[in-house]
Amino acid sequence: MNYNKKTVKDIDVKGKKVLLRCDFNVPMAKDGSGVITDDKRIRAALPTIQYLLAEGAAVIACSHMGKPQPSFDKWVQKQTEKGKDPATLTEAKWQKSLAELTLAPVAARLSELLGQDVALAADVAGPDAQAKAAALQPGQIMLLENTRFEKGETKNDPKLAKAMADMAEIYVSDAFGAVHRAHASTAGVAEYLPAVSGFLIQKELDFIGGALAAPKRPLVAILGGSKVSSKIGVINNLLEIADTIIIGGGMAYTFSAAQGGKIGNSLFEADWQEYALEMIKKAADKGVKLLLPIDTVCGDKFAPDANTLTVDAGNIPDGWEGLDIGPKTVELYCNAVADAGTVIWNGPMGVFEFAAFAAGTEAVAKALSQTNAITIIGGGDSAAAVQQLGYADKMTHISTGGGASLEFMEGKELPGVACLLDA
Ligand code: ADP
Ligand code: MG
Repeated sequence: MNYNKKTVKDIDVKGKKVLLRCDFNVPMAKDGSGVITDDKRIRAALPTIQYLLAEGAAVIACSHMGKPQPSFDKWVQKQTEKGKDPATLTEAKWQKSLAELTLAPVAARLSELLGQDVALAADVAGPDAQAKAAALQPGQIMLLENTRFEKGETKNDPKLAKAMADMAEIYVSDAFGAVHRAHASTAGVAEYLPAVSGFLIQKELDFIGGALAAPKRPLVAILGGSKVSSKIGVINNLLEIADTIIIGGGMAYTFSAAQGGKIGNSLFEADWQEYALEMIKKAADKGVKLLLPIDTVCGDKFAPDANTLTVDAGNIPDGWEGLDIGPKTVELYCNAVADAGTVIWNGPMGVFEFAAFAAGTEAVAKALSQTNAITIIGGGDSAAAVQQLGYADKMTHISTGGGASLEFMEGKELPGVACLLDA
Protein backbone atom coordinates (compact mmCIF):
# COMPACT_ATOMS: atom_id res chain seq x y z
CA MET A 1 0.00 0.00 0.00
CA ASN A 2 1.09 3.55 -0.71
CA TYR A 3 1.78 5.54 2.44
CA ASN A 4 2.83 8.65 0.61
CA LYS A 5 -0.25 10.73 1.34
CA LYS A 6 -1.16 14.39 1.04
CA THR A 7 -0.99 16.26 4.32
CA VAL A 8 -2.62 19.43 5.64
CA LYS A 9 0.32 21.33 4.13
CA ASP A 10 -0.65 20.22 0.61
CA ILE A 11 -4.14 21.72 0.68
CA ASP A 12 -5.49 25.24 1.10
CA VAL A 13 -7.55 25.32 4.29
CA LYS A 14 -7.98 29.08 4.62
CA GLY A 15 -11.59 29.98 5.28
CA LYS A 16 -12.59 26.33 4.91
CA LYS A 17 -14.57 24.13 7.26
CA VAL A 18 -12.37 21.18 8.16
CA LEU A 19 -13.69 17.93 9.65
CA LEU A 20 -10.79 16.67 11.77
CA ARG A 21 -10.86 13.07 13.05
CA CYS A 22 -8.78 12.81 16.22
CA ASP A 23 -8.20 9.99 18.67
CA PHE A 24 -9.52 11.51 21.89
CA ASN A 25 -10.25 8.08 23.36
CA VAL A 26 -8.52 9.04 26.61
CA PRO A 27 -8.52 6.98 29.81
CA MET A 28 -11.10 8.24 32.33
CA ALA A 29 -11.26 7.73 36.10
CA LYS A 30 -13.21 4.54 36.81
CA ASP A 31 -15.59 6.28 39.28
CA GLY A 32 -17.58 8.04 36.54
CA SER A 33 -16.41 11.46 37.79
CA GLY A 34 -15.40 12.53 34.28
CA VAL A 35 -11.76 13.09 35.23
CA ILE A 36 -9.27 12.42 32.41
CA THR A 37 -6.40 10.38 33.88
CA ASP A 38 -4.01 10.85 30.94
CA ASP A 39 -4.43 13.60 28.32
CA LYS A 40 -1.51 12.47 26.12
CA ARG A 41 -3.80 11.74 23.17
CA ILE A 42 -5.34 15.21 23.34
CA ARG A 43 -1.92 16.85 23.45
CA ALA A 44 -0.75 14.68 20.53
CA ALA A 45 -3.45 16.29 18.35
CA LEU A 46 -2.47 19.88 19.17
CA PRO A 47 0.10 20.46 16.39
CA THR A 48 -2.46 19.73 13.67
CA ILE A 49 -5.26 21.67 15.40
CA GLN A 50 -3.05 24.70 16.01
CA TYR A 51 -1.80 24.64 12.43
CA LEU A 52 -5.34 24.50 11.03
CA LEU A 53 -6.57 27.32 13.27
CA ALA A 54 -3.56 29.49 12.48
CA GLU A 55 -4.13 28.92 8.76
CA GLY A 56 -7.67 30.27 9.10
CA ALA A 57 -9.66 27.03 9.02
CA ALA A 58 -12.83 26.46 11.03
CA VAL A 59 -12.22 23.13 12.76
CA ILE A 60 -14.97 20.58 13.41
CA ALA A 61 -13.17 17.99 15.52
CA CYS A 62 -14.55 14.53 16.19
CA SER A 63 -13.55 11.30 17.94
CA HIS A 64 -14.91 8.14 19.46
CA MET A 65 -14.62 7.30 23.14
CA GLY A 66 -14.94 3.81 24.58
CA LYS A 67 -17.52 1.34 23.40
CA PRO A 68 -21.00 2.80 23.95
CA GLN A 69 -23.94 0.61 22.92
CA PRO A 70 -26.15 2.88 20.80
CA SER A 71 -29.22 0.65 21.25
CA PHE A 72 -30.83 -0.47 24.52
CA ASP A 73 -31.42 -4.04 23.30
CA LYS A 74 -27.81 -4.47 22.23
CA TRP A 75 -26.65 -3.08 25.58
CA VAL A 76 -28.84 -5.56 27.46
CA GLN A 77 -27.44 -8.37 25.33
CA LYS A 78 -23.80 -7.34 26.00
CA GLN A 79 -24.35 -6.89 29.73
CA THR A 80 -26.09 -10.27 29.96
CA GLU A 81 -23.13 -11.87 28.17
CA LYS A 82 -20.90 -10.33 30.84
CA GLY A 83 -22.97 -12.15 33.48
CA LYS A 84 -25.26 -9.31 34.64
CA ASP A 85 -28.78 -10.26 35.73
CA PRO A 86 -31.15 -9.04 32.94
CA ALA A 87 -33.80 -8.12 35.56
CA THR A 88 -31.52 -5.33 36.87
CA LEU A 89 -30.87 -3.81 33.43
CA THR A 90 -32.99 -0.68 33.10
CA GLU A 91 -33.25 1.96 30.41
CA ALA A 92 -31.98 4.50 32.97
CA LYS A 93 -28.78 2.49 33.55
CA TRP A 94 -28.19 2.27 29.83
CA GLN A 95 -28.59 6.07 29.54
CA LYS A 96 -26.09 6.49 32.37
CA SER A 97 -23.57 4.23 30.59
CA LEU A 98 -23.88 6.49 27.54
CA ALA A 99 -23.63 9.69 29.58
CA GLU A 100 -20.30 8.51 31.00
CA LEU A 101 -18.88 8.38 27.48
CA THR A 102 -19.67 11.98 26.55
CA LEU A 103 -16.80 13.97 25.10
CA ALA A 104 -17.61 16.93 27.42
CA PRO A 105 -14.46 16.40 29.54
CA VAL A 106 -12.40 16.29 26.33
CA ALA A 107 -13.91 19.57 25.09
CA ALA A 108 -13.06 21.17 28.43
CA ARG A 109 -9.45 19.89 28.45
CA LEU A 110 -8.92 20.81 24.80
CA SER A 111 -10.21 24.29 25.52
CA GLU A 112 -7.69 24.67 28.39
CA LEU A 113 -4.81 23.44 26.23
CA LEU A 114 -5.70 25.71 23.30
CA GLY A 115 -6.67 28.69 25.41
CA GLN A 116 -9.85 29.18 23.43
CA ASP A 117 -13.45 28.08 23.56
CA VAL A 118 -14.33 24.58 22.26
CA ALA A 119 -18.09 24.20 21.88
CA LEU A 120 -19.42 20.64 22.21
CA ALA A 121 -22.29 19.64 19.94
CA ALA A 122 -25.05 17.59 21.56
CA ASP A 123 -24.97 15.11 18.68
CA VAL A 124 -22.67 13.73 15.97
CA ALA A 125 -24.31 14.97 12.78
CA GLY A 126 -27.78 15.93 13.99
CA PRO A 127 -29.46 19.34 14.24
CA ASP A 128 -27.21 20.74 16.98
CA ALA A 129 -23.98 19.68 15.25
CA GLN A 130 -25.25 21.11 11.96
CA ALA A 131 -26.26 24.44 13.50
CA LYS A 132 -22.99 24.83 15.39
CA ALA A 133 -20.94 23.84 12.32
CA ALA A 134 -22.82 26.30 10.12
CA ALA A 135 -22.11 29.15 12.56
CA LEU A 136 -18.43 28.25 13.06
CA GLN A 137 -15.98 30.96 11.95
CA PRO A 138 -12.37 30.69 10.69
CA GLY A 139 -10.02 30.27 13.67
CA GLN A 140 -12.75 28.68 15.78
CA ILE A 141 -13.01 25.04 16.85
CA MET A 142 -15.90 22.85 17.94
CA LEU A 143 -16.19 19.19 18.90
CA LEU A 144 -18.85 16.72 17.82
CA GLU A 145 -20.23 14.24 20.37
CA ASN A 146 -18.80 10.72 20.64
CA THR A 147 -19.04 9.32 17.09
CA ARG A 148 -19.97 5.88 18.47
CA PHE A 149 -23.22 7.30 19.85
CA GLU A 150 -24.34 6.77 16.25
CA LYS A 151 -25.04 3.17 15.24
CA GLY A 152 -23.72 3.92 11.76
CA GLU A 153 -20.20 4.75 12.97
CA THR A 154 -18.77 1.26 13.41
CA LYS A 155 -20.85 -0.04 10.48
CA ASN A 156 -19.33 2.61 8.22
CA ASP A 157 -22.83 3.64 7.21
CA PRO A 158 -22.64 5.92 4.14
CA LYS A 159 -25.62 7.96 5.41
CA LEU A 160 -23.76 8.93 8.58
CA ALA A 161 -20.53 9.53 6.68
CA LYS A 162 -22.34 11.81 4.23
CA ALA A 163 -24.09 13.72 7.03
CA MET A 164 -20.74 14.34 8.73
CA ALA A 165 -19.07 15.28 5.46
CA ASP A 166 -21.89 17.70 4.58
CA MET A 167 -20.91 19.94 7.49
CA ALA A 168 -17.38 20.44 6.11
CA GLU A 169 -15.33 21.05 2.96
CA ILE A 170 -12.13 19.16 3.78
CA TYR A 171 -11.43 16.02 5.80
CA VAL A 172 -8.25 15.71 7.84
CA SER A 173 -7.44 12.45 9.56
CA ASP A 174 -5.11 12.56 12.55
CA ALA A 175 -6.47 9.62 14.56
CA PHE A 176 -3.60 7.19 14.21
CA GLY A 177 -5.05 4.99 16.97
CA ALA A 178 -8.16 4.38 14.82
CA VAL A 179 -6.81 4.11 11.26
CA HIS A 180 -6.97 0.31 11.28
CA ARG A 181 -10.76 0.56 11.45
CA ALA A 182 -13.00 1.30 8.49
CA HIS A 183 -15.63 3.35 10.30
CA ALA A 184 -17.80 6.24 9.07
CA SER A 185 -15.61 8.90 10.67
CA THR A 186 -12.24 7.23 9.96
CA ALA A 187 -12.75 6.21 6.34
CA GLY A 188 -16.35 6.66 5.12
CA VAL A 189 -16.25 10.47 5.11
CA ALA A 190 -13.30 10.43 2.69
CA GLU A 191 -15.73 9.30 -0.04
CA TYR A 192 -17.33 12.74 0.08
CA LEU A 193 -14.50 15.18 0.82
CA PRO A 194 -10.90 15.82 -0.24
CA ALA A 195 -9.03 13.88 2.45
CA VAL A 196 -5.52 14.49 3.80
CA SER A 197 -3.50 13.46 6.85
CA GLY A 198 -2.53 15.51 9.88
CA PHE A 199 0.93 15.71 11.46
CA LEU A 200 0.44 12.90 13.98
CA ILE A 201 -0.43 10.28 11.37
CA GLN A 202 2.43 11.53 9.24
CA LYS A 203 4.86 11.18 12.12
CA GLU A 204 3.70 7.66 12.96
CA LEU A 205 3.82 6.50 9.34
CA ASP A 206 7.27 8.01 8.81
CA PHE A 207 8.61 6.51 11.98
CA ILE A 208 7.22 3.01 11.95
CA GLY A 209 7.29 2.76 8.16
CA GLY A 210 10.87 4.03 8.05
CA ALA A 211 12.04 1.63 10.74
CA LEU A 212 10.49 -1.34 9.00
CA ALA A 213 11.09 -0.53 5.33
CA ALA A 214 14.66 -1.77 5.58
CA PRO A 215 14.91 -2.74 9.24
CA LYS A 216 18.20 -2.89 11.06
CA ARG A 217 18.52 -6.58 11.84
CA PRO A 218 18.05 -8.69 13.74
CA LEU A 219 14.42 -7.58 13.99
CA VAL A 220 12.88 -8.77 17.25
CA ALA A 221 9.14 -8.63 17.88
CA ILE A 222 7.88 -8.94 21.46
CA LEU A 223 4.23 -9.76 22.02
CA GLY A 224 2.39 -9.91 25.31
CA GLY A 225 -0.55 -8.41 27.15
CA SER A 226 -4.03 -9.72 27.71
CA LYS A 227 -5.86 -9.11 24.42
CA VAL A 228 -4.80 -12.55 23.27
CA SER A 229 -7.43 -13.32 20.64
CA SER A 230 -6.97 -9.95 18.92
CA LYS A 231 -3.16 -10.17 18.87
CA ILE A 232 -2.21 -13.81 18.44
CA GLY A 233 -3.14 -13.67 14.75
CA VAL A 234 -0.35 -11.20 14.00
CA ILE A 235 2.32 -13.85 14.63
CA ASN A 236 1.64 -15.36 11.23
CA ASN A 237 2.49 -12.08 9.50
CA LEU A 238 5.34 -11.21 11.86
CA LEU A 239 6.98 -14.51 10.89
CA GLU A 240 7.47 -12.98 7.44
CA ILE A 241 9.45 -9.98 8.68
CA ALA A 242 10.99 -10.81 12.07
CA ASP A 243 14.15 -12.75 12.91
CA THR A 244 12.99 -13.47 16.45
CA ILE A 245 9.52 -13.45 18.02
CA ILE A 246 9.23 -13.36 21.79
CA ILE A 247 5.97 -14.36 23.46
CA GLY A 248 5.08 -13.23 26.98
CA GLY A 249 2.03 -12.05 28.90
CA GLY A 250 -1.28 -13.84 28.62
CA MET A 251 -0.56 -15.16 25.14
CA ALA A 252 2.04 -17.67 26.32
CA TYR A 253 -0.42 -20.04 28.00
CA THR A 254 -2.32 -20.89 24.85
CA PHE A 255 1.00 -22.13 23.42
CA SER A 256 1.78 -23.98 26.62
CA ALA A 257 -1.63 -25.68 26.73
CA ALA A 258 -1.39 -26.59 23.04
CA GLN A 259 1.91 -28.34 23.78
CA GLY A 260 0.23 -30.34 26.55
CA GLY A 261 1.31 -28.15 29.47
CA LYS A 262 -0.68 -27.54 32.63
CA ILE A 263 -1.75 -23.88 32.81
CA GLY A 264 -4.12 -23.79 35.80
CA ASN A 265 -6.38 -20.72 35.62
CA SER A 266 -4.12 -18.76 33.24
CA LEU A 267 -5.53 -16.79 30.31
CA PHE A 268 -6.29 -19.26 27.55
CA GLU A 269 -7.84 -19.22 24.07
CA ALA A 270 -8.91 -22.78 23.26
CA ASP A 271 -9.75 -21.91 19.64
CA TRP A 272 -6.19 -20.77 18.95
CA GLN A 273 -4.34 -23.91 20.12
CA GLU A 274 -4.02 -25.50 16.72
CA TYR A 275 -2.87 -22.20 15.27
CA ALA A 276 -0.26 -21.93 18.04
CA LEU A 277 1.20 -25.30 17.03
CA GLU A 278 1.18 -24.26 13.37
CA MET A 279 3.12 -21.11 14.27
CA ILE A 280 5.75 -23.13 16.13
CA LYS A 281 6.18 -25.31 13.06
CA LYS A 282 6.18 -22.41 10.61
CA ALA A 283 8.82 -20.58 12.66
CA ALA A 284 11.03 -23.68 12.61
CA ASP A 285 10.56 -24.09 8.84
CA LYS A 286 11.45 -20.45 8.19
CA GLY A 287 14.35 -20.35 10.62
CA VAL A 288 12.69 -17.67 12.76
CA LYS A 289 13.36 -17.98 16.49
CA LEU A 290 10.05 -18.22 18.33
CA LEU A 291 10.78 -17.87 22.03
CA LEU A 292 8.26 -19.04 24.61
CA PRO A 293 8.54 -18.73 28.41
CA ILE A 294 10.49 -21.49 30.14
CA ASP A 295 9.23 -20.54 33.59
CA THR A 296 6.42 -18.49 34.99
CA VAL A 297 5.47 -16.61 38.16
CA CYS A 298 1.99 -17.65 39.29
CA GLY A 299 -0.48 -16.14 41.68
CA ASP A 300 -3.24 -17.90 43.63
CA LYS A 301 -5.61 -15.09 42.61
CA PHE A 302 -5.64 -12.09 40.28
CA ALA A 303 -4.84 -9.49 42.92
CA PRO A 304 -1.94 -7.38 44.19
CA ASP A 305 -1.75 -9.39 47.42
CA ALA A 306 -1.82 -12.84 45.78
CA ASN A 307 0.59 -15.50 47.03
CA THR A 308 3.25 -16.21 44.42
CA LEU A 309 4.90 -19.36 43.16
CA THR A 310 7.52 -19.75 40.42
CA VAL A 311 7.32 -22.93 38.34
CA ASP A 312 8.63 -24.25 35.03
CA ALA A 313 6.38 -23.54 32.06
CA GLY A 314 3.61 -26.09 31.67
CA ASN A 315 3.63 -26.99 35.36
CA ILE A 316 1.14 -24.54 36.83
CA PRO A 317 -0.78 -26.22 39.65
CA ASP A 318 -4.59 -26.18 39.75
CA GLY A 319 -5.93 -23.05 41.40
CA TRP A 320 -2.95 -20.92 40.28
CA GLU A 321 -2.57 -18.66 37.25
CA GLY A 322 0.48 -17.46 35.34
CA LEU A 323 0.83 -13.70 35.84
CA ASP A 324 4.45 -13.00 34.82
CA ILE A 325 7.41 -14.58 33.05
CA GLY A 326 9.88 -16.23 35.43
CA PRO A 327 13.57 -15.38 36.07
CA LYS A 328 14.99 -17.95 33.61
CA THR A 329 12.72 -16.56 30.90
CA VAL A 330 13.77 -13.02 31.79
CA GLU A 331 17.38 -13.98 31.16
CA LEU A 332 16.54 -15.69 27.87
CA TYR A 333 14.49 -12.72 26.60
CA CYS A 334 16.98 -10.07 27.72
CA ASN A 335 19.76 -11.92 25.87
CA ALA A 336 17.59 -12.12 22.78
CA VAL A 337 17.11 -8.35 22.63
CA ALA A 338 20.66 -7.41 23.64
CA ASP A 339 22.08 -7.53 20.10
CA ALA A 340 18.87 -6.61 18.24
CA GLY A 341 18.93 -4.00 15.48
CA THR A 342 15.23 -3.21 15.77
CA VAL A 343 12.71 -4.16 18.46
CA ILE A 344 8.97 -3.78 18.20
CA TRP A 345 7.14 -4.36 21.47
CA ASN A 346 3.41 -4.68 21.99
CA GLY A 347 1.97 -6.01 25.25
CA PRO A 348 3.47 -6.27 28.78
CA MET A 349 5.19 -9.50 29.89
CA GLY A 350 3.02 -9.79 33.00
CA VAL A 351 0.53 -7.99 35.19
CA PHE A 352 2.95 -5.13 35.80
CA GLU A 353 0.25 -3.16 37.64
CA PHE A 354 0.81 -5.53 40.60
CA ALA A 355 4.35 -5.21 42.03
CA ALA A 356 4.66 -8.97 42.55
CA PHE A 357 4.22 -9.57 38.80
CA ALA A 358 6.08 -6.57 37.34
CA ALA A 359 9.61 -8.00 37.23
CA GLY A 360 9.34 -9.48 33.72
CA THR A 361 8.03 -6.30 32.11
CA GLU A 362 10.53 -4.18 34.03
CA ALA A 363 13.50 -6.37 33.00
CA VAL A 364 12.52 -6.32 29.33
CA ALA A 365 11.98 -2.54 29.41
CA LYS A 366 15.37 -2.10 31.02
CA ALA A 367 17.03 -4.40 28.47
CA LEU A 368 15.51 -2.34 25.65
CA SER A 369 16.72 0.88 27.23
CA GLN A 370 20.27 -0.52 27.19
CA THR A 371 20.41 -1.71 23.57
CA ASN A 372 21.49 0.32 20.59
CA ALA A 373 18.45 -1.01 18.76
CA ILE A 374 15.67 1.09 17.30
CA THR A 375 12.87 0.48 19.79
CA ILE A 376 9.22 0.99 18.91
CA ILE A 377 6.57 0.57 21.59
CA GLY A 378 2.88 0.17 20.67
CA GLY A 379 -0.19 -0.40 22.82
CA GLY A 380 -1.71 1.75 25.53
CA ASP A 381 -0.74 -0.46 28.46
CA SER A 382 2.75 -1.14 27.10
CA ALA A 383 3.32 2.60 26.71
CA ALA A 384 1.98 3.15 30.25
CA ALA A 385 4.29 0.42 31.60
CA VAL A 386 7.37 1.92 29.97
CA GLN A 387 6.36 5.35 31.24
CA GLN A 388 5.64 4.15 34.77
CA LEU A 389 8.94 2.26 34.95
CA GLY A 390 10.83 5.38 33.87
CA TYR A 391 12.18 4.16 30.52
CA ALA A 392 10.03 6.23 28.16
CA ASP A 393 12.87 8.64 27.24
CA LYS A 394 15.10 5.72 26.31
CA MET A 395 12.79 4.37 23.61
CA THR A 396 13.06 5.48 19.99
CA HIS A 397 9.32 5.83 19.42
CA ILE A 398 6.22 5.30 21.53
CA SER A 399 3.27 4.98 19.21
CA THR A 400 -0.14 6.50 19.96
CA GLY A 401 -1.75 3.46 18.33
CA GLY A 402 -1.83 -0.09 19.67
CA GLY A 403 -3.85 -2.12 17.19
CA ALA A 404 -3.06 0.36 14.42
CA SER A 405 0.70 0.13 14.89
CA LEU A 406 0.57 -3.68 15.00
CA GLU A 407 -1.47 -3.92 11.81
CA PHE A 408 0.81 -1.41 10.14
CA MET A 409 3.90 -3.38 11.12
CA GLU A 410 2.29 -6.55 9.83
CA GLY A 411 1.92 -4.92 6.44
CA LYS A 412 -1.88 -4.82 6.50
CA GLU A 413 -3.70 -2.05 4.68
CA LEU A 414 -4.94 0.65 7.05
CA PRO A 415 -8.37 1.82 5.80
CA GLY A 416 -8.03 5.21 7.51
CA VAL A 417 -4.82 5.87 5.59
CA ALA A 418 -5.71 4.16 2.32
CA CYS A 419 -8.70 6.55 1.92
CA LEU A 420 -6.48 9.68 1.90
CA LEU A 421 -5.33 11.43 -1.27
CA ASP A 422 -2.01 10.23 -2.67
CA ALA A 423 0.77 12.81 -2.59
P1 ADP B 1 -1.57 -3.05 25.18
O1 ADP B 1 -2.52 -2.09 25.81
O2 ADP B 1 -0.14 -2.68 25.37
O3 ADP B 1 -1.93 -3.34 23.75
P2 ADP B 1 -3.03 -5.30 26.26
O4 ADP B 1 -4.19 -4.39 26.40
O5 ADP B 1 -3.14 -6.44 25.30
O6 ADP B 1 -1.71 -4.46 25.95
O7 ADP B 1 -2.69 -5.97 27.65
C1 ADP B 1 -2.26 -5.22 28.77
C2 ADP B 1 -2.65 -5.93 30.04
O8 ADP B 1 -2.20 -7.27 30.00
C3 ADP B 1 -2.02 -5.33 31.27
O9 ADP B 1 -3.03 -4.64 31.97
C4 ADP B 1 -1.48 -6.54 32.05
O10 ADP B 1 -1.87 -6.51 33.40
C5 ADP B 1 -2.14 -7.71 31.34
N1 ADP B 1 -1.38 -8.96 31.42
C6 ADP B 1 -0.10 -9.19 31.10
N2 ADP B 1 0.24 -10.46 31.34
C7 ADP B 1 -0.86 -11.07 31.81
C8 ADP B 1 -1.13 -12.41 32.26
N3 ADP B 1 -0.21 -13.36 32.25
N4 ADP B 1 -2.39 -12.67 32.68
C9 ADP B 1 -3.34 -11.72 32.71
N5 ADP B 1 -3.14 -10.44 32.30
C10 ADP B 1 -1.90 -10.13 31.85
MG1 MG C 1 -4.52 -2.33 26.47
